[in-house]
Amino acid sequence: MKITSVKTAASTGHCMHLWVKITTDAGITGLGECVHGGHQSIAIIKELEERLIGRDPFAIDAIFEETRRSLVFEGGFAGALITALTGIEIALWDLKGKALNVPIYELMGGKFRDDIRVYADCEVSPGMNMAEVQAVVDEVLEAGFTALKVDLDIRAYGHTGSETGWYEKDKFNMTPNKWEHDRMVTLAEMVVKAAGNDVDVATDLHTRLDKHSAIRLARDLEHLKLLWLEEPVPPENIDVMAEITRSTSTPICAGENLYLRHGFRKLLETQAVDIIMPDIPKCGGLSECRKIAEMADLYSIPFAPHNVSSPIGTMASAHVCATVPNFLVLEFHWFNRDYWKTITDGGEIIENGRIRLNDRPGIGLELNEDVARQHQYPGTTWFE
Ligand code: MG
Repeated sequence: MKITSVKTAASTGHCMHLWVKITTDAGITGLGECVHGGHQSIAIIKELEERLIGRDPFAIDAIFEETRRSLVFEGGFAGALITALTGIEIALWDLKGKALNVPIYELMGGKFRDDIRVYADCEVSPGMNMAEVQAVVDEVLEAGFTALKVDLDIRAYGHTGSETGWYEKDKFNMTPNKWEHDRMVTLAEMVVKAAGNDVDVATDLHTRLDKHSAIRLARDLEHLKLLWLEEPVPPENIDVMAEITRSTSTPICAGENLYLRHGFRKLLETQAVDIIMPDIPKCGGLSECRKIAEMADLYSIPFAPHNVSSPIGTMASAHVCATVPNFLVLEFHWFNRDYWKTITDGGEIIENGRIRLNDRPGIGLELNEDVARQHQYPGTTWFE
């Protein structure tokens, strides 16, 4: 079997959802999704098509690594190039599963678990009162989720009353004042109270804080027994992240903007975080993220992938989550987007906060192109 074409299309959703379709001379097609690569990844895939045509589509890891290493001068260790390769890699896995008539998880060593626990990302802001927080949380609980995540920092700095104040005032400010600090703690307390004892609450800080502010906040959240506190500081400085992690019993999670095993190596070797969160349809794909998860398992660090993808990328991620021992929970970021249920032929893939893996070949879902194209990303072409 030989690859005959590699084409892209893109839809709007949480971000740009870039579809990669690979066809073969055997008439078998694979479809992948990657995110956050933007128009750059589209251009890169277009450029790579010619060198992929004629290749054996089963040589997934070899195609990925050979292409990556040959493009090391063009940025083959992070960013849009890796995300482009990720979209290709996931399409190849879908294709291989279909060609062999097995789900991807069977090709990856088989399942540790039959269903994948998912947490819902939901929107609260520090200006909300208890009733408003409860309403947001209730919607998530009614949908059956047993874990959720909220942003503590968004709009946390608007202390003159402007809802968008903190970002408009000074986007480089890393040091919340006492009022702002207390406002974030209060919001977390309200969310945990609204969620009740049986639901885990994770919180995100989007790398906004300085070291001291992060330690103070993490310590003041300890009584809430959070699932985690996400990226209190930028993950680039592993020493600072490690110091925060060692300063608090609040678990620290990071990694949604790191790429490949290489991006996670030192973070894991120094145990600078308690939990890692690679974005599978962005940072290297299914093989690479299985390896990252296995590296983390050597340090007893749970694997909780970041995820903003459509059901295609989400289900592709679920195959990885099923086949590693240290999976914790997978993100779901499409709450209240109606076409989550119609953009594939799988309908609602999350029931009671869990994704059940089916036994269809490949990823196990087909993109509904009619629906996806209704949301075509501006300035893109459609599998041309
Ligand atoms: Mg985050």
